[in-house]
Amino acid sequence: MNNQTFESVISKSKQQLTKWKANTLSQEGRSTLIKSNLSAKPIYTMQSFLLPKQTLKELDEVNKKFFWNKGEKHRAPINWDEICKSKANGGTGIRKAEDINIALQMKLLWKIIAEPYNIWVRIIHEKYLKNADLKLYEKRGQTSWQWGKLISLRKQFFEGIKWVVGDGKTINFWQDRWLTDIPLIESVADKDSIDKSLLVCDLINSNKDWDRPKIFQLLIGKLRRRTIRTILEYNIPTNDFQDRMYWKESNNGWFSTKSSVQLLHKNKGHKPSELKWIWDLDCAPKIRNFMWRISKSGLQTKERLQQRRIAVPMECELCGHHSEGFFHLFMECNFVKDIIHNTKKHLFDLIFPYNQNLGNEKELLMELKEKIGIRHMSALATTWWSIWYFRNQRVFNNDKSSKEKIGKFLLGEQNNWRIANEAEKKGDLVKRNQTLP
Ligand SMILES: [Zn+2]
Repeated sequence: MNNQTFESVISKSKQQLTKWKANTLSQEGRSTLIKSNLSAKPIYTMQSFLLPKQTLKELDEVNKKFFWNKGEKHRAPINWDEICKSKANGGTGIRKAEDINIALQMKLLWKIIAEPYNIWVRIIHEKYLKNADLKLYEKRGQTSWQWGKLISLRKQFFEGIKWVVGDGKTINFWQDRWLTDIPLIESVADKDSIDKSLLVCDLINSNKDWDRPKIFQLLIGKLRRRTIRTILEYNIPTNDFQDRMYWKESNNGWFSTKSSVQLLHKNKGHKPSELKWIWDLDCAPKIRNFMWRISKSGLQTKERLQQRRIAVPMECELCGHHSEGFFHLFMECNFVKDIIHNTKKHLFDLIFPYNQNLGNEKELLMELKEKIGIRHMSALATTWWSIWYFRNQRVFNNDKSSKEKIGKFLLGEQNNWRIANEAEKKGDLVKRNQTLP
């Protein structure tokens, strides 16, 4: 098995995306298509195989190129890893090919433990597992490449599993998650001093109760007294229950690829973003995407281009001021301030004067949101987007629209969104009514 085997996955994905006319879509539109393309076309192969790293990288490249809609040499202003975080963690919600692939493979591992009568699971037992416990199974001799790849994901997979103690025979005392979501080994300072193969059943006596003397002997000095107390408070069933497990990352305890991608992200150290509210702004999705780009300092103002060593004349296209940076364009440019003042006086009074000691766009967004609230932020987003739109018209098409025209345009944008949004809500209502008996 090598990269060529999977080349068709890449070319299919490419074909599908090039069918869409990238030029006519906004970045938000292209982002939506990438999400639907990755969850459809290559998914069949990804369900069955852990693809080679190179193939996954190329799939990401295809998506990346489509996302930016630029040529080969384009250097993206925002890192692909940042883009591929969830919206809650500061990204766009596009998922990396590798994350989807691993999540889909984990689904197979889940099948093995949750659906023992599934025909594929029975074949797997017949061929490899021989009824061994998935967690404890050790690979012997020659097995298939794919099977080896699949079980190499076990460690990551079991990080999402939480155990409910029955007889304790399959739960590793130190390394499985059963008492809390974190394995007990994490709270031991000297990890070499413990028996890592200790099972929960080793600490249960024949009366199906905790073996207190043994617990005190083995655990005092290793775990905090409070933790030991929590163990002793854990109820062991008195009947013949076997150990059970559930997927702790989802609400219903059942595995889902979505929640397993979240787990992978958590393990990569992704943290909740303070700017998640951007995606809740009451404006067109393309404008939310625009605000997200701003929050990542990804708007290609002339200052930004110069920092990236791309030579451009530095004058602000709107007022002729010498340096067109983000803060000039959106907070200081007199041309822009006039537009806001003339079309949205109330908003103008709310945002000005503003704190000029902020380091970057993200800090400005947070400060403004705090100051004026999400409703006015939505209005500001549409305003900024319209200004950026006309700024680009000047740069690329030499279209010198007047302040009045821009002001009229931005009010129109806001109105269009309101109408479209209301129509959509009504559409939802109609749809819901149709499903009633
Ligand atoms: Zn200016």
